[in-house]
Amino acid sequence: MKNYLNFYPNRVPRTITIPETTLFENLEMSARRYPNKTALHYYGRKVSYQELYEEVLNLAGYLQEKSVSKGERVLLYMQNSPQWIISFYAIARIGVVVIPANPMCTNEELTFFIQDGAVKTAIISQELLNKVDSSLLEQVIVAAYSDYIDQETDLALPPEVRAPRQEIPHEWVHWINAISFGYSPKEMKVRADDLVVMPYTSGTTGLPKGCMHTNKTVQANIVSVTVWQSVTSESVHLLTLPLFHVTGMLHSCHGPLAGGCEIVIMTRWDRELARQLIERNQVTHWTNISTMLIDFLANPNLTKESLNTVEVIGGGGAPLPAAVGEKLFELAGIRYSEGYGLSETISHTHLNPPDRPKMQCLGLPSPNTISKIIDPTTLKVLGPNEEGEIIVYGPQIFKGYYNRPEENVNAFIEVDGQPYFRTGDIAKYDEEGYYFIVDRIKRMINASGFKVWPTEVESMLYKHPAIQQACVVGIPDEKRGETVKAFIILNEKNKGKITEEEIIEWSKKQLSAYKYPRIIEFREQLPTTSSGKLLWRHLQDEEKRKVLEG
Ligand code: AMP
Repeated sequence: MKNYLNFYPNRVPRTITIPETTLFENLEMSARRYPNKTALHYYGRKVSYQELYEEVLNLAGYLQEKSVSKGERVLLYMQNSPQWIISFYAIARIGVVVIPANPMCTNEELTFFIQDGAVKTAIISQELLNKVDSSLLEQVIVAAYSDYIDQETDLALPPEVRAPRQEIPHEWVHWINAISFGYSPKEMKVRADDLVVMPYTSGTTGLPKGCMHTNKTVQANIVSVTVWQSVTSESVHLLTLPLFHVTGMLHSCHGPLAGGCEIVIMTRWDRELARQLIERNQVTHWTNISTMLIDFLANPNLTKESLNTVEVIGGGGAPLPAAVGEKLFELAGIRYSEGYGLSETISHTHLNPPDRPKMQCLGLPSPNTISKIIDPTTLKVLGPNEEGEIIVYGPQIFKGYYNRPEENVNAFIEVDGQPYFRTGDIAKYDEEGYYFIVDRIKRMINASGFKVWPTEVESMLYKHPAIQQACVVGIPDEKRGETVKAFIILNEKNKGKITEEEIIEWSKKQLSAYKYPRIIEFREQLPTTSSGKLLWRHLQDEEKRKVLEG
């Protein structure tokens, strides 16, 4: 095999030193270097690095005043906004751990995070307030996006961004903006090895669990992506991926802030608004997901000139159809650079070189990262073009799942004396060392990059009084990549009395919008092993075959 380092961009070293600083110190350094430079651009309103830094300090001081103390966890539940970023850095400043939640979470899902993470304080945007059971919390801080909006803007803003502050229960603090509190934080030593963020994922099994990341694991991927994508303080990043997810958080927020870049924030995806923001703000970097790019390229107003200033377009989380990559190249001469990673690795472990990317490819192991393919049964390390499980070792790997000792043992495997993380994805690498995903061992559905765990959907379905047995699988979907289908056996009492649509409607109320089954099929029987275990892969392969055969 040729040495894959030959395919690294020329300027990227194989190993990069990771600074021993915290995320807050990154921001502090950028504020010192570029006080008057725009850090955040929110639909026309600009927040400079100095303003951002002061707001972070104010909110940090306020949180301390409210007895939020080092080591505890705060739930951050809002859409992309200046307040999300201010909150994150304020929480990080006082050594507290951020649990970022998907704005699509239902009350039940949030309750799980609050209880699992023993959360006492949450920072929530006003449009999401009614989704949280406040009796579970000791205090809630509320944000209104419109506090950061210049009302005279000519941009067609989403309604929740325009919405003025609402009435809220008086015992809750209404957060106008942090600076209005007038606090400053007390001295608090936070180290690079202290935990800073805990995104929830189901990993390879079961129910959601928090991935413990330290300042240092995050820092590792900040430095590698910054060098890889030639990010400079002149770079302008369009933030369209949700901040609660590791790719948006790392590539479009923590990386750019450490580099002193400008971040153009979108609260809600809108292809025309994205085009306008790219043109007006001379965006240079945009990390997205395939469904977003497909929609963006279908905009009739889009021209080659719209992307004149853009240097890097890339993304990950789900494969990009080759035809979409070609369309982008034909329009703007830009090669999409796909990456690969997981919540456990705080985004990438693999990146495609922007100057030599391959289509439908995860890329090369990123700096400081070693990747191998193993046979998932014999655990033998395999060679080029052999399919097996991807395992990874590097400084961005998480410190384990929060309070899950057993799952932590199963998540790692020792190779050459080092603990490699088992990804649960099946892939192979070619003669040049580029990785390609083939399948998954883990039971997970990837719907537009949003991850759905069938066991979680099944547990919900079993709560329905008419359902005797359920098996959830992912089926190929032109738009979303994969979509959720449930095979259901109804109990005797309800056979013929309930429709597929009724089950779908009921599921919608129980689960986040991306999780509920879009297709239901009633069956009399489901395939099982002799011990009664559901043969879900059997059903999934059957569905895939149907789609392939048209
Ligand atoms: P998450 O923890 O939500 O980031 O999901 C991680 C999972 O997303 C991986 O285990 C993969 O199954 C999937 N994934 C990430 N990047 C890609 C990619 N470029 N192509 C296909 N699947 C991907």
